[in-house]
Amino acid sequence: LEKEYDLVIVGSGATGLVSALQAKRLGLKVAVIEKMASLGGNTMRASSGMNAAETEVQLANGVIDDFTAFYQETLQGGGKLNDKELLEYFVTHAPLAIEWLAKQGIVLSDLTISGGMSQKRMHRPQSLAPIGAYLIKGLLARCVAEAIPLFTNTKLVAIKKAAEKITGITVAGTDGKEVEVGVKALLLATGGFGANANLIAQYQPQLANYKTTNHAGASGDGLLLAQKLGAQLVDMNFIQVHPTVQQDFDHTYLIGEAVRGEGAILVNKNGERFVNELATRKRVTAAITALNENGAYLIFNQTVRQRVKAIEFYDKVGLVVTGASLAELATKLALPKENLSQTLSNWNQAVATRTDCQFGRKTGLVTLNQAPYYAIHIAPGIHYTMGGLHINAKTQVLDEDGQVISGLYAAGEVAGGLHGNNRIGGNSIAETVVFGLQAGKQAAKYILGK
Ligand code: ADP
Repeated sequence: LEKEYDLVIVGSGATGLVSALQAKRLGLKVAVIEKMASLGGNTMRASSGMNAAETEVQLANGVIDDFTAFYQETLQGGGKLNDKELLEYFVTHAPLAIEWLAKQGIVLSDLTISGGMSQKRMHRPQSLAPIGAYLIKGLLARCVAEAIPLFTNTKLVAIKKAAEKITGITVAGTDGKEVEVGVKALLLATGGFGANANLIAQYQPQLANYKTTNHAGASGDGLLLAQKLGAQLVDMNFIQVHPTVQQDFDHTYLIGEAVRGEGAILVNKNGERFVNELATRKRVTAAITALNENGAYLIFNQTVRQRVKAIEFYDKVGLVVTGASLAELATKLALPKENLSQTLSNWNQAVATRTDCQFGRKTGLVTLNQAPYYAIHIAPGIHYTMGGLHINAKTQVLDEDGQVISGLYAAGEVAGGLHGNNRIGGNSIAETVVFGLQAGKQAAKYILGK
């Protein structure tokens, strides 16, 4: 690390890398620091896609969508508690973010649908590979091409403010040795706090013993350090539990919403459906929890498998139970055969008539009438922290009085407000790109005095 930078970006998830590219393009001297040994943050675990409405990709696929629907459905999903200023900026800039990525060689040209949306709004790579690793790989290649310095094993431990603005930071290496670095602006792209058991217990005591899908770096450092400077935290008790997490082994695996979006159903120990599988995460989670059966089973077939590449991976690590026939699957899962068979015929009837009388599911209607059949055992797990630093649509961090803390920016999961009390799948990746671009731009505007 050098002694001084225009902008230091803390965190190497999608938010950090996107903002670094933007800031570099606008002429800033930037550096990205990352406390973990590897780059990419929790973004690396993102599996589903990136939401945007009114995109070229949608038009090319005959999908007629609009900003109003995207805005309203995100608001609906978030319990109408979303920060409206952030949401407006988010919705109207998402198509530009998709285009910006395409210009970087990161092409999201396949569309799928997921929980809480009425249109195919979730963009993902044509290869159908999980989006996170694809995105980080593409962004890192661009950062290397732009000679943006990236420092791993380098942790932000303190932020300095003098004369009412940010002037520097203290970073520590793995040996604990501290170094001071002068900055004109600082961007916190440090992600959420889903892996910080103490913070989770403090804000949501009933989730204290839940497992998390997050990487260990999701410990909330950024928001705690900014809070010491007087930054305001919002929505900290809004913690998203993802309904479908495989957690029967040491490592937890998030089973992407696309599995349901592309056609999987959920059944209980009685082999019966119990919820609209594509209701919001909050509702599906509540329904699984209410079963009181230590989770539930995702049931799907080859059609779903072909549409969701991640299933190959789930299978490779041993999460998928296969039945050469439905009866065999039922036996392996210890579910009543007759019930399961009845459930599937009811479901196929619902698909044929496009009417799910039982639970009102309207999307991901795929016939399940051909062996082999597959299942994954899932239960809810801590997935995403909606709350965080209070920012405005310029990504400036605000203090307890709503005043801007000069030179301090935050974007991505570390920031709170956009998602209200429940994030729609596919909105977090979109948030990293939309607000990563904005943070890089706003920091440049501030530093260059434009
Ligand atoms: P986002 O999706 O908002 O980009 P991610 O979770 O993908 O967030 O990335 C955040 C990154 O920030 C993670 O790689 C995490 O290890 C890193 N990070 C968190 N706290 C610190 C810190 N104190 N110093 C440096 N890096 C940090």
